[in-house]
Amino acid sequence: MHSTPSTPIALVTGASRGLGKNTALALARQGTDVIITYHSQAATAHAVVAEIEALGRRAVALQLDVGTSSSFAAFAERVSDTLHSWGRMHFDALVNNAGTGEHAGLMETTEAQFDAMVAIHLKSVFFLTPKLLPLMVDGGRIVNLSSGLTRFALPGYVAYASMKGAVEVLTRYMAKELGSRGIAVNVVAPGAIATDFGGGAVRDNAQLNAVIAGNTALGRVGEPDDIGGVIASLLSPANGWVNAQRIEASGGMFL
Ligand code: NAP
Repeated sequence: MHSTPSTPIALVTGASRGLGKNTALALARQGTDVIITYHSQAATAHAVVAEIEALGRRAVALQLDVGTSSSFAAFAERVSDTLHSWGRMHFDALVNNAGTGEHAGLMETTEAQFDAMVAIHLKSVFFLTPKLLPLMVDGGRIVNLSSGLTRFALPGYVAYASMKGAVEVLTRYMAKELGSRGIAVNVVAPGAIATDFGGGAVRDNAQLNAVIAGNTALGRVGEPDDIGGVIASLLSPANGWVNAQRIEASGGMFL
């Protein structure tokens, strides 16, 4: 299965682990070449590249800190270099996925913690996307990542969820502005998923896991496999008319 000039190319941030990794693999299975990014875990990112290549697709892993907007221009140049090395000028789809959690209530959250959430979850999507847009084809697609926590409130997520709420608004504005280029922009809001996120609490804390499962219509917490396919399917030609939507994938949490 060789890549051709019409093989779609996606860029997935934070794809060394968790939901980004699962999305990158789902996209590869769908016939997409994938540029992934990692922050600190180069080895796991390169293992994901190897998995994608084993599926017959091209992949490369680039380092990116989404919390440092001053690095975005240089990152875009490295994306451009990668595209050129693949004989291409443009990529087709961007998944703004990278991120970390912060667990603190309103009374405990420090300004430093708040600023980190702003940088990692909001400034990243706001300022990285425009740097990459000149490299995206007209008619391309963007998926941003939000969270079920924008619809329901749980203690300790006030700063994180506030940023994700902003990302949902930003998604609508991006869709409005980028429509003239034929670019559709949607936001996927996962429920609680068993990944390393938040110290792996959903996966490893049996009590928390049981509470979430008990408050989820489908009766369990989410797994990465519940999300990657949703994002890949949103980026498939069949869903090209879906635009400016918040799609929650939570198994029916807190209905
Ligand atoms: P995860 O398993 O902890 O993976 C996080 C990924 O983001 C890793 O690839 C990590 O890179 C990268 N990353 C972390 N900080 C970064 C930074 N400053 N700059 C660039 N990359 C960074 O998390 P996940 O569960 O897959 O979460 C992915 C997205 O889904 C996040 O936006 C999160 O808010 C959202 N989400 C998660 C859940 C959930 O329950 N898991 C629910 C709703 C929404 P390294 O491996 O190199 O560190």
